[in-house]
Amino acid sequence: MDKQSLSSISMKGAPACAGCHMLVARYAPQVVASTGTYHRECFEAWYVGRYGKRPSLLAAKGGHRHAFRVRESNEVREGGEVGERAA
Ligand SMILES: [Zn+2]
Repeated sequence: MDKQSLSSISMKGAPACAGCHMLVARYAPQVVASTGTYHRECFEAWYVGRYGKRPSLLAAKGGHRHAFRVRESNEVREGGEVGERAA
């Protein structure tokens, strides 16, 4: 709840994927990153394309069993392409 984007996402219930901009179903496999919520497939595809390796995904704290978070690194935080914020 420390970010504006998080509160708007929780109110909608189904956030838009930051990768493909389609809604992420509540219990679909998904990755919650600092830059937004992604379908797991979208996140992995983007990550592999950008870094040439698969992301290390961890279970998201407080999330359901299909929610993951990426092990944060400087690389991910610098990812300008996915850093765009929903206005
Ligand atoms: Zn997606």
